[in-house]
Amino acid sequence: MRGEARPTRARIRLEALRHNYRLLRSSAPGARVMAVIKADGYGHGIDRVARTLAGEADCFAVSGVDEAMPIRAAGATQPVVLLGGFFAAAEIPLHVREGFQPVVHSWWQVEALASAGPHESLDVWIKVDSGMHRLGFLPGEVAEVHRRLTALPNLRQIGFLTHLAEADDRDSPRTLEQLRVFDQACAGLPGPRSAANSAGTLGWPAAHYDWVRPGISLYGASPFIDQGRPRPDLRPVMTLESGLISVKRLPAGAPIGYGSTWRCPEAMPVGVVAIGYGDGYPRHAPSGTPVRVDGVESQLLGRVSMDLITVDLRPCPEARPGAPVVLWGDGLPAETIAERAGTIAYELYCQVTPRAPRQVVAPTR
Ligand SMILES: *Cc1c(COP(=O)(O)O)cnc(C)c1O
Repeated sequence: MRGEARPTRARIRLEALRHNYRLLRSSAPGARVMAVIKADGYGHGIDRVARTLAGEADCFAVSGVDEAMPIRAAGATQPVVLLGGFFAAAEIPLHVREGFQPVVHSWWQVEALASAGPHESLDVWIKVDSGMHRLGFLPGEVAEVHRRLTALPNLRQIGFLTHLAEADDRDSPRTLEQLRVFDQACAGLPGPRSAANSAGTLGWPAAHYDWVRPGISLYGASPFIDQGRPRPDLRPVMTLESGLISVKRLPAGAPIGYGSTWRCPEAMPVGVVAIGYGDGYPRHAPSGTPVRVDGVESQLLGRVSMDLITVDLRPCPEARPGAPVVLWGDGLPAETIAERAGTIAYELYCQVTPRAPRQVVAPTR
């Protein structure tokens, strides 16, 4: 019965994932694609995401080795870049054996590689801090890191990777500044380069280099903050849905939910939906956040509870218990809900809990 009795579920449409992958690939025709599937495929399920893209992705990227093993278990054989590198030198033999490519972001990792002894084949990426000031070597250190790594007998290819802090803002000058710093830091050094996340892939051709690294856009959310501009033709992979379980008419002035934060301005129909923050719907979504009830756009009323939310049925007075409700996904971008709730689609996807079972819609061949 799990996932069948309660109408709450995250429907995962793998066809949309494939569509988005192809769109991203054609957006960066000169580059190869590293599909970023960390954090359980942004909450979509890493095994099914890896299996869906196994025939097409040039490479996968995750945070660390614990996330990389399920990719192998899913049968995908392409290289896997570990964006956080190794957390301990003891991992290195596993990287060699499984074709994992660690990012090297700190001197302690250079030392660990030097003392790890010879391995016949290991590809690594030097992380360059081009201005985000999170992980990575400062530009002035890069040539020295490269020299030290080149001297090791166990490395095959050494690439260069950086991360963009403001690519989601198409008007920010920071991106081109970072690319200039990146270019200078690795000028004259051989090896592939990679800088573009989703926003870089879709909005900044100068950031494409040899490898693009889209994550959020694979799952169908726009990476840009300028929601007003046309969205790229991405399709939502996840639709979070539930159903009405109660419908009633309330008098004018009736308060709704914990804290009585919303009151009916008139006599009106309201509905109760079987979803709440215990399923991953954001508790901070305010009254007025859009929901689709029976295919009609309506709004959330009052506070989100653990198991339930209340919605306005004035736009769809005919809706009855059992009517489908979409919280985000089909016809309702996750970015819109995220913005209302003061967060980003990334977090919405990652926070969907196991109580909302993933219901997979398989791709057609
Ligand atoms: C998560 C991540 C990405 C993907 O970013 P999106 O904004 O989801 O496209 C790319 N590169 C690195 C280093 C990351 O950590």
